[in-house]
Amino acid sequence: MILDGKKIAATIRAELREQVGDLLSQGKRAPKLAIVLVGNNPASETYVNNKLKACAEVGIEAVKLAYPASITEQTLLNEVHRLNSDETIDGFIVQLPLPEHITETTIMSAIDRRKDVDGLTPENVGRTVQGLPSLVSATPRGIRELLSRYGIQTEGKHVVVIGRSNIVGKPIAMLLMQRPYLSLPGMSAASLGDATVTICHSKTRDLKSICLTADIIIVAAGSPGLLTAEMVKEGATIIDVGINRVDGKLVGDVDFEHVAPKAAYITPVPGGVGPMTIVSLLQNTLQAYNEHTR
Ligand code: NAD
Repeated sequence: MILDGKKIAATIRAELREQVGDLLSQGKRAPKLAIVLVGNNPASETYVNNKLKACAEVGIEAVKLAYPASITEQTLLNEVHRLNSDETIDGFIVQLPLPEHITETTIMSAIDRRKDVDGLTPENVGRTVQGLPSLVSATPRGIRELLSRYGIQTEGKHVVVIGRSNIVGKPIAMLLMQRPYLSLPGMSAASLGDATVTICHSKTRDLKSICLTADIIIVAAGSPGLLTAEMVKEGATIIDVGINRVDGKLVGDVDFEHVAPKAAYITPVPGGVGPMTIVSLLQNTLQAYNEHTR
């Protein structure tokens, strides 16, 4: 069965539109997101435009703050501090990657965790690890939501995560191994979590043997065709996070054609995890607004 991220994301956007509509009919203001874009990386511009469009669709106010690639780290830091103290902004993101002369961790660490709707500050990550209320980074939040909406339980399951990045691999592993009663606010289905998680990466030996024992495989490596049918046991659930452009076509990290017939559930690329990531940013923005205006 295909895990249709596009369809689920549309359902969640409709729910969000209703929630924002309720706020407005109570005389409250709309939630507001700011997106900081540095330079003119075409992929980043596309991502930012998609995020702005999604915000508009649900009634979240969104502004793009564009800066030249030559901006100094200090000026960008000043902008982050300004946004931290701007009462009209509920959340903001700094679109990555940043130009090489700017240290990403310096910028991310300066963001107020309550406005960190990308869930990337060390404080939010630490709180997620400890099961405290936090803003969870968008892709892991979206994957968890997708599993939940399809009723895919993770308790006692062996989940193999391929990739150990701070934005996908590490946080999704953390979320799925959590005890459910430590579930994060705004997330549906308390039954998700309690999995036995193995994290694999580029130095992992015998990836195939490990994957063959997995009930759920989450691939976030950025390597087209990495997960092949021989690495997947019959009836496994496959979540493909990868986004790669091959011969002008968008493909994931999974050999979809051969893996899909063996899988109980599988996400397509495009139309799987990608749309869930964007909608999770909207959910995080509403979460930040609710905390901010409480
Ligand atoms: P990354 O690019 O920072 O790192 C890749 C990770 O994969 C590393 O930890 C590396 O050790 C591991 N890896 C690479 N090749 C491997 C191999 N052959 N075997 C085992 N492990 C291997 O990771 P990222 O930023 O999480 O991005 C991963 C992919 O997911 C990229 O294609 C990216 O574009 C995509 N992505 C998609 C979304 C979405 O919304 N769909 C969001 C974020 C990232």
